[in-house]
Amino acid sequence: MGQRIESRLWLSQARLLAVGDSDKIIHRGCGDRASLFIKNDADKFWCFCHRCHGQGFVEKVHQRVKQKLPTKTGWMPEKMVPLIEAIVAEPYNFRDLFERHGIAPFVTLCRFSPDTRRVYFPDDSGSLLGLDATMQANARFYSPHKRSLAVYAHNTDGALHITGSLMEYLESVRRGMNAVLAMNGAGEKAALAVVATTYQDYGTITMGSYLRDNFIRDLKPFTG
Ligand SMILES: [Zn+2]
Repeated sequence: MGQRIESRLWLSQARLLAVGDSDKIIHRGCGDRASLFIKNDADKFWCFCHRCHGQGFVEKVHQRVKQKLPTKTGWMPEKMVPLIEAIVAEPYNFRDLFERHGIAPFVTLCRFSPDTRRVYFPDDSGSLLGLDATMQANARFYSPHKRSLAVYAHNTDGALHITGSLMEYLESVRRGMNAVLAMNGAGEKAALAVVATTYQDYGTITMGSYLRDNFIRDLKPFTG
């Protein structure tokens, strides 16, 4: 094994190479011939000197590439894949989302649309409430039906948790509870209809965070 060759002697030249290409340059201080082999590989830059057997390498770090915001927002997602698939394919694109929203523990419950770049939650209401994964959309949560609602009807004779918090909603779903997420006025109206038609005869209803006073009042007949 030769000495480690300092990056300043070769890295800038290696960076000029196209991925997969190599070249030979002079190893300064080690003869007049171009004995230093340099290469740009997909995952690293490296060099090897045929004269002194010195070497060096620099691993490439995955750039945290900003996801491109879709040019059109608000249309229906055409394609959905399990969120975990998208994360495996492009982990760096979801780091911000996880840091900000803490949905990592619920990844297996969610789906992702490559065309809207939004994350979708378990939902029987068809609202298609999607959370922006690019962190650049004006509307972080968006439903093409304008109602920020998600309903998970596991068994209608069980307990129901109504909440304005995505985390609480996902936690309830994970526990196999019935749950309703209502995040705007239209969502609350739709949630009220769900409660009135589906749950009025059943189980206990509990109220979670971020619900507006009016909505809580409207739910009173059902919550007792
Ligand atoms: Zn050398």
